[in-house]
Amino acid sequence: MPLVRTRGVIIRSQRWGDADRIITVYSPNLGKIRGVARGARRMKTRFGGVLEPFGLVELTLFQKTPEALGQISQIDLVANFSAIRENLTVMTAAARMVRMVEAITVDRDPNYEMFVALVHGLESLSPETDVALTTLLFQIHILGHTGFRPQLDSCAECGQSARYHALQWFSPRLGGMVCEECGQRGVGRMLVLSRGSVAFIEQARRLSLPQLSRLKAMGTVRLEVETAMEAYFYAVVGKSLPTFEQWVF
Ligand SMILES: [Zn+2]
Repeated sequence: MPLVRTRGVIIRSQRWGDADRIITVYSPNLGKIRGVARGARRMKTRFGGVLEPFGLVELTLFQKTPEALGQISQIDLVANFSAIRENLTVMTAAARMVRMVEAITVDRDPNYEMFVALVHGLESLSPETDVALTTLLFQIHILGHTGFRPQLDSCAECGQSARYHALQWFSPRLGGMVCEECGQRGVGRMLVLSRGSVAFIEQARRLSLPQLSRLKAMGTVRLEVETAMEAYFYAVVGKSLPTFEQWVF
């Protein structure tokens, strides 16, 4: 099927050659796809300002083969989530969300829940809210929809259940909690993740997207969960996410 019409969120927009742009879009039915917008950087272009990151667009892509880089023939803006551009902190939060989705997905592997979470996440960012927390909750939520879901209920090394032995350590490399014995034997870097922090992550995974914004985290729990998630993300994809210049609490 050479002509593809789909909706999606622009997760990356890169310069390409003298006049073109390559756009990466996360689509509900196709997953992550790329297309080139020819002449996008000339003064007069049919693409207007639609190729900016974070926009929800409707696009038509011409593809000779499914593997080839498609050519964008038409693209229309559906929503641009204008609150994202109000300040640098909100933009960083949005950048963290799209980078996460880009990094943990492979091309053309659709995941409808991931798309819904991304649109909801971008929609819920605004300068009046705690965007760092929104981003953290988004991160926990989308990992739950992938094979990278952290293992919290048993030791990620030996499988011992957390029900009988309180697990206190998180291993970014193993992607889960580690028991005392395995920790002492050495499994690499470990981070403290106390009972309250594990409960927070479990709650964030259980709640639906609209309920998620009611969840609050402060002090030690917030610090532990942020540190663990950041280290785990790095262990999974080998890249760091854009950082907030200044954390807003
Ligand atoms: Zn163990």
